[in-house]
Amino acid sequence: MIAEVIVDISNGEVDRVFDYAVPDSLALERGMRVSVPFGKREIEGYVMELKDSTELPADKLKAITSVLDGYAVITEEMFSLMRFMREKYHLRIIDVLRLFIPSQMRGGRVKELKKQYVGLREEFFSVDMDEYIKKSARAQRDVCFFLMENGATSLTEMNENFSAAAIRNLIARDILYVTSVEVKRSPYVQESGEGDFAVRELTPSQKAAYEAIVSAKSATFLLHGITGSGKTEVYMRCISDALASGKSAIMLVPEISLTPQVFKIFKARFGDEVAILHSGLSAGERFDEWRRLISGQAHVAVGARSAIFAPVANIGVIIIDEEHDSSYVSESNPRYQTYEVADRRAEYNGCNLIMGSATPSIESYYYARCGKYRLVEMNTRVNERALPEMNIVDMTKEYAAGNNGVFSRRLESELYECVGGGNQAIIFLNRRGYSSYVMCRSCGYVAKCERCDVSLVYHKDENMLKCHYCGNRYSMLDVCPMCKSPHIKRGYVGTQQLVERLEAMFPDKEILRMDNDTTQTKDSHARILERFASKKASVLVGTQMIAKGHDFPDVTLVGIVDADMSLHFNDYRSSERTYQLITQVSGRAGRDAKAGKVVLQTYSPNHYVYRFAANGDYKGFYEKEINLRELTKYPPFSKIVRVLVTSESENDAFETLKKIYDDTMEYVNVCREDFAYAAAMKSPVKRIQSKFRMQMLVRITGRTEEALAKIYDITDKYKNNKATCFVEINPNNLS
Ligand code: ADP
Ligand code: ZN
Ligand code: ZN
Repeated sequence: MIAEVIVDISNGEVDRVFDYAVPDSLALERGMRVSVPFGKREIEGYVMELKDSTELPADKLKAITSVLDGYAVITEEMFSLMRFMREKYHLRIIDVLRLFIPSQMRGGRVKELKKQYVGLREEFFSVDMDEYIKKSARAQRDVCFFLMENGATSLTEMNENFSAAAIRNLIARDILYVTSVEVKRSPYVQESGEGDFAVRELTPSQKAAYEAIVSAKSATFLLHGITGSGKTEVYMRCISDALASGKSAIMLVPEISLTPQVFKIFKARFGDEVAILHSGLSAGERFDEWRRLISGQAHVAVGARSAIFAPVANIGVIIIDEEHDSSYVSESNPRYQTYEVADRRAEYNGCNLIMGSATPSIESYYYARCGKYRLVEMNTRVNERALPEMNIVDMTKEYAAGNNGVFSRRLESELYECVGGGNQAIIFLNRRGYSSYVMCRSCGYVAKCERCDVSLVYHKDENMLKCHYCGNRYSMLDVCPMCKSPHIKRGYVGTQQLVERLEAMFPDKEILRMDNDTTQTKDSHARILERFASKKASVLVGTQMIAKGHDFPDVTLVGIVDADMSLHFNDYRSSERTYQLITQVSGRAGRDAKAGKVVLQTYSPNHYVYRFAANGDYKGFYEKEINLRELTKYPPFSKIVRVLVTSESENDAFETLKKIYDDTMEYVNVCREDFAYAAAMKSPVKRIQSKFRMQMLVRITGRTEEALAKIYDITDKYKNNKATCFVEINPNNLS
């Protein structure tokens, strides 16, 4: 028999299978991981196909050396998913495989953890101890008595409690035997399913949602439930049902909200059935959790984006929580959209896919409206509390009144009241992005592109304003074109400055900060949250890291310092993102018995985003936004495609992009009606890690699949070893 093997070379451009002979002694199956001779080395590979013959001459044909695991690490479903991803995203096989199989496993860097146990041999149980141990050898007798009573015990434990010399002696005399048993490194030991974690009786709106979902067989649901409506409980019921009918489940959450709290809830409810896949786990833990899934010991995979590739079979339900979250789009190689992969797996398994959010993406809601997804709504909070009251503060008035500080007078007085009253506050400052928008401090005017209706970005090196969508350039403003004020603001206040200010306001209170700078070490994220939850600190200042999923019952005030920051980000989704962020952050207030308040500071108090957000009117916001999208031909009425070309040489990048662009334009000119826009330009960030970056941007409005295929083909055609080319669909980030 012959096996087609794909070899795992980490840096190679080799993306093809090689034929190897299969020795009769090997019980080989498709999908197994094997060791093969390759050149002068011995490397790992995966069996893609088994066949009867090869074109290779017998003297060239080498044989597989060994099988590495004894089971197929790529299941039939994964083979099918691999084909899908190759076709859809033009990925290399090896890149897809790397998504499927944890890096810890490849290259055998992590081994099973074995623990040694020592026990008394059977035959000695029925013999008088005097016959094999002298009366005077007390230490040895103690060991044997203990093992007789307790059975085989961990060797380490025995050595700690008894004489190691005695144990050694008994092993040497074959009175004790030693065996090694694999132990799984399991993160987050099980909690009991009580109190906080108990199964709840569903509220009427949870019940209605749950029943709508389970009555369907193979549908995609958009579960639109306001913050605190209890979506997690609905998910868990669906997972329970899957388990009860002998099936498995996948539950995805954004990486950032994969907190110990979430793990605990799932562990408490589902015990050892749950495996957690999370970048914060140790390599050994991740390896073991993955193997518990593929071996069928665990049936529920909980994790961030990449958990969609969890090796579970016979899936009963797939859940994507916070479906609007941008982390579900993979933005580096290999690029893919999580919901498309999820959809594919749901289809393969004939199961439901549930996408849940308090603030669905405009695209998902549009599909729900069109009937492509089924819409299920939960409009009441579990605790029947109203959503927190939102106060919008006009910062241009603060400025006019002589307040140059970061906090408005309203937010300051609310802070004194909240902290003074022994409650807690969350202060949110969104620092997403790196370059700032340009705005007039006197009237709130924001510089925008004439052609794209997106905010311009200040480029310090050239002192120019640029549109990141069409590449248009404008000169930097000295005075505001609307009111002639010279007070033009660019740059922003950072979280650190807020902490300083708060420490001055509350010298005897602890202020916590959570952002990228304070969460570099492994547990820092959890430590900050725990410290805040235990009420040691009065105020938590943070970036969008604090926006998600945390339940702090004593938080009565949420301050949003600069709401406009994401609003004027250079993106057609900036309104949507702002709405989502405000709603998520506001949802942190008044989760429990105490009512919550939100103070939102903005220079554009009349912007529709704030009006709708203040009223919790998602539908109103959606209607407004979808009309704009239709008018401007942005997704879901088009697909934005970016072909990104990078190279160490500016000229190679240029030449490659030019060819891609020219060919694309030939096609665009034939099918004009399918395109809203096509242009080539330098990328906004012209160089990253000493590579020059150039891009082509295209907006496809009709015959999308065809046009996409065409662009992929053209890009593949001009791929060369001097420049790297990637196709991105609706990227989150166009920098
Ligand atoms: P969401 O994700 O929709 O914002 P959660 O799932 O976090 O809301 O639920 C909010 C809170 O309500 C949690 O503390 C949860 O434990 C609690 N909860 C959920 N469902 C119920 C229920 N049926 N009865 C009592 N408490 C519930
Ligand atoms: Zn102005
Ligand atoms: Zn523009």
